[in-house]
Amino acid sequence: MAQVEKRSGGCQCGKVRFEVTVDLGAPVISCNCSMCGRSGTLLTFVPADQFTLLSGEGELTDYRFNKHVIHHLFCKVCGIKSFARGSGPKGPTVAINTRCLDDIDIEKLNITRVDGKSR
Ligand SMILES: [Zn+2]
Repeated sequence: MAQVEKRSGGCQCGKVRFEVTVDLGAPVISCNCSMCGRSGTLLTFVPADQFTLLSGEGELTDYRFNKHVIHHLFCKVCGIKSFARGSGPKGPTVAINTRCLDDIDIEKLNITRVDGKSR
């Protein structure tokens, strides 16, 4: 069931803040790859035009691995990965770490396991 909402979120220390229009009824990816498996991110993907970075661009460190297509961005102050930038079939995409949305109830999300490790 679609549950489209405008949400705010960001990193732990508050330097990185964003607003995003996100469907909280859509599957949220719990992946076991070398990155997600370690950091515990729960990702949902939105078109880049539904995402606005309000502050913190200068605080972000960009880490890339594997095919270097996804910009894994983390706050250089607190280390939290609140989102990543990449490109999907429909163009620029932002992967939101739903754990970093304000007042989110993780238990209510549609968490879907993805076996990124063996891909
Ligand atoms: Zn931070």
